[in-house]
Amino acid sequence: MKVELIAHTPEPEKYIAAAAKLCYSNADVDTLLDGLDEAKTASFLEMLTSIGHESPVEHVSFTFAVEGISRACSHQLVRHRIASYSQQSQRYVSMENFPYVTPPEIASLPEANALFEEEMKRCADAYDKLAALLTEKHCKTFLAEGLDEKTARQRAVKKANEDARFVLPNACETKIIVTMNARTLMHFFRLRCCNRAQWEIREVACEMLRLACKAAPALFKNAGPACVCGACPEGKMSCGKAAEMREMFAKLKSE
Ligand SMILES: Cc1cc2nc3c(=O)[nH]c(=O)nc-3n(C[C@H](O)[C@H](O)[C@H](O)COP(=O)(O)OP(=O)(O)OC[C@H]3O[C@@H](n4cnc5c(N)ncnc54)[C@H](O)[C@@H]3O)c2cc1C
Repeated sequence: MKVELIAHTPEPEKYIAAAAKLCYSNADVDTLLDGLDEAKTASFLEMLTSIGHESPVEHVSFTFAVEGISRACSHQLVRHRIASYSQQSQRYVSMENFPYVTPPEIASLPEANALFEEEMKRCADAYDKLAALLTEKHCKTFLAEGLDEKTARQRAVKKANEDARFVLPNACETKIIVTMNARTLMHFFRLRCCNRAQWEIREVACEMLRLACKAAPALFKNAGPACVCGACPEGKMSCGKAAEMREMFAKLKSE
């Protein structure tokens, strides 16, 4: 998998501090950014965290490009509604010889891995055959409607992909761009960096957190699963490894 932070609001911490300053002082628009040095900015961020005033954090956003994750993982990602997404289309892009993600637990068992590979090949063969059959069918229809050969074939291929993709597995790789504001990101990290999250989205979330921390260390100082800066809220489902998690995330944020 590849996760890149491709854009973010410039000087994110300063603009959050400016939003906080506007709330709690008589500063006007012309002087809002004055005096917001590193120390002042950090103290505004600290104050917002301590009183749980989260909305100023919504003014800055971060855009990540993610590739080499499974469709199973991207489906979990897009459940986070307060965000924007653009995902590679399986209608407009042919999935011939589709790449796929093999879960490490499957890869570690030779018998399971062989079965998995066999199934991926079966899906790929079925996809190719369906795409070819449907392309011929649609091509005939488009030609009968009066389209020229080239246009009819181009349209037929796209229309065929639409239905052939129904045999593609959850393991099929995808690419996605995601933009979240910092408040959503904190919420996302709380849920998806947790040991209870599934391994693949957890890997994505941890890498996003590492990159976000590099761009805005003071802002994401306390980000991560809930146990990083408080008690674990998972009750009976808790992994019971809060101390290890704190150590792990402290290391990740310093990388
Ligand atoms: C460990 C784990 C297991 C999961 N298992 C399942 C599962 O088995 N089945 C399943 O379907 N999902 C599952 N999910 C997904 C989960 O239910 C959420 O859909 C997902 O985590 C997105 O979280 P969210 O809704 O808080 O985020 P967002 O959609 O980004 O929303 C952020 C916050 O905005 C508020 N909000 C957004 N929309 C509404 C709304 N319509 N009404 C009221 N408040 C709103 C809520 O406070 C919400 O927390 C699981 C998630 C995790 C982390």
